[in-house]
Amino acid sequence: MTRSTSIIELKGIGEKSSALFGKLNIFTVGDLLAHYPRDYETFALPVPIADAMPGDTCAIHGMVTGIPNAKKIRNLTILNVNVKDVSGAMQLTFFNMPFLKKTLRPGGYYVFRGLIQSRGASKIMEQPKIYGLDDYRKQCGQLMPKYALTKGLTNQAVQKAVKQALGLCATEEEYYPPSVIEQYDLCSAQEALENLHFPKTFDEMKAARKRLVFDEFFGFLLMLRQNKDMTEELSNDYPMHETSDTVRFLEQLPFPLTKAQKKVWGELKEDLEGSHCMNRLIQGDVGSGKTIVSVLALLMCAANGYQGALMAPTEVLAAQHFETVQGYIREYGLNLKPILLVGSMTAAQKRAAYTMIAAGEANLVIGTHAVIQDKVHFEKLALVVTDEQHRFGVRQREKLAEKGEGHPHVLVMSATPIPRTLAIILYGDLHISVIDELPANRLPIKNCVVNTSYRPKAYSFIEKQVREGHQAYVICPQVEEGEMEDLENVVEYAEKLRAALPADIRIAYLHGKMSAADKNRIMDAFSRHETDILVSTTVIEVGINVPNATVMMVENAERFGLAQLHQLRGRVGRGDAQSYCIFISTNEKKETMERLDILNHSNDGFQIAAQDLKLRGPGDLFGIRQSGDFSFRLGDVYTDANVLQGAAAAVDRLLAEDPGLSMPEHAGLKRHFATAGNSVDFRSI
Ligand code: ADP
Ligand code: MG
Repeated sequence: MTRSTSIIELKGIGEKSSALFGKLNIFTVGDLLAHYPRDYETFALPVPIADAMPGDTCAIHGMVTGIPNAKKIRNLTILNVNVKDVSGAMQLTFFNMPFLKKTLRPGGYYVFRGLIQSRGASKIMEQPKIYGLDDYRKQCGQLMPKYALTKGLTNQAVQKAVKQALGLCATEEEYYPPSVIEQYDLCSAQEALENLHFPKTFDEMKAARKRLVFDEFFGFLLMLRQNKDMTEELSNDYPMHETSDTVRFLEQLPFPLTKAQKKVWGELKEDLEGSHCMNRLIQGDVGSGKTIVSVLALLMCAANGYQGALMAPTEVLAAQHFETVQGYIREYGLNLKPILLVGSMTAAQKRAAYTMIAAGEANLVIGTHAVIQDKVHFEKLALVVTDEQHRFGVRQREKLAEKGEGHPHVLVMSATPIPRTLAIILYGDLHISVIDELPANRLPIKNCVVNTSYRPKAYSFIEKQVREGHQAYVICPQVEEGEMEDLENVVEYAEKLRAALPADIRIAYLHGKMSAADKNRIMDAFSRHETDILVSTTVIEVGINVPNATVMMVENAERFGLAQLHQLRGRVGRGDAQSYCIFISTNEKKETMERLDILNHSNDGFQIAAQDLKLRGPGDLFGIRQSGDFSFRLGDVYTDANVLQGAAAAVDRLLAEDPGLSMPEHAGLKRHFATAGNSVDFRSI
């Protein structure tokens, strides 16, 4: 059995369950092994009944008092069992398990583990798992993996399949030189895989995770460093000079550029006029005004007789950029002929667009990655700007070059706060410009972190803002199959909100499972103020600009990384009206509230991410991701910054010693990282 063997070869997996695994993109044994747990459950020692709090999942060790009482309602058998320990008593309820009446002897002691719930003044557990004390003790402290699931597939089924796959797959030979293993204190790849899925201790899991994250970063950086595109300074195939177009545009704008914007615009001009092909990243916090700077560059490009492209990660954002540019053209008479190109357009619309692009009739193409697909031929593509999608443009330089006579200039814009040291590692030789200043008309956003009982107040606050002519966002966690049910769901939430607010307030909703065309329609309506409240998942996270929106309310805020919340918050406070953020936390634990409270004290995205890391317990390693920009499976550029640095140093040393990886001792390594699936999957590309 190898990693490419189909999972159907595993015992217990037939057509039906393999179809379910397929829904999770698990087809081979290798896919299964790479289906890492998203969290772990720990079995702690039993607690006294009096200390078991509703909402906690815990174990108690108690004596069965009296004879279990069974009743039948239609075809459901309900068995109630009373238990007590020295501290108190509680009732357990089992469904359709009549045989337990015989197993659970009155006077017998058992461990029961489950979710503690309150019923009136008393505590109950439904369907707890039952153990003998000794058996339970044996698994205490162990971490049980919890996997992402899909309807019909249980966690236990995944566990069983993974266990089998681990036992059957041949151990992989070590591919790193001993010096790397030693210096970065890495466990073996096999050990890592076993211990990530079934760790005996927390430390074991951490060590396993470290090795796998190191692998991920190493593979990624190795590819990056070997990619000449990323490392070579190319000459300027499309030199430009400044024309009156940009000067006039700047004069006509109703606001002056901030000092930081001016500086960055200066850097862009220098690149475009200079002797080398531009390869630049603009970092600027949300709302710092990156778009206008890129429009200036695109305008300069068009004025020099070339074509430019502006690419965004979503159609919604692309459509919005298109709107913005058209607005500028209407108001300031810019000499630009933009065209929109997105996946959801009809074949005929696309063909028409291709023709205009190929003929050079359109000098600015705005869209998603549809823009750089093979069918699109440019007449003279000289500048590619990508918004909020880090790797998108840069890694595609070679592909882009095929679209014209030379290498187009590349400009990447990002609001993801990342310190310089990491940026240098992740972006190779990309030059970095920073917009570290917000436009002066901005009032700081007012924030509050509250629990769910604050909802009615929040609703009436939103209503008031709507009455004043403003708009609001309400964010709920992702709609995803197999997700916990208690998370607020966008569709239901919108209904609830409609019921809670007067009928004339216009509410729309948006989520990732909708078609691109629907998303565009809804987003357009919101930005034209045809709706007042937009209930959405984080699909609106990046880039959207509706300056009239003044309230951002986030449900289940505890489920988000702070950096992500900061990005969300950036959707408001974009105009000159006072804006507000309401973070609702379902979990009132002190640590959670403290963590969210950081948002009240800082407005600096990177500062926030760093603080978040410091505060979070090691148990929070999973589940919360800070940055969605880099699609590593396991690694997180923030959380694992030091592993990233280690992997970068290791790659650099390796390539300095053996640039082609041709030395025999590096054969295993070369093979391992050349195999598809061992390097990072760039889902975004
Ligand atoms: P981001 O950097 O998050 O992409 P945008 O480019 O969308 O931000 O800009 C946010 C808003 O700020 C837009 O409405 C834009 O017109 C406005 N803006 C940009 N620069 C300035 C400025 N110098 N002064 C005032 N408003 C500005
Ligand atoms: Mg933006």
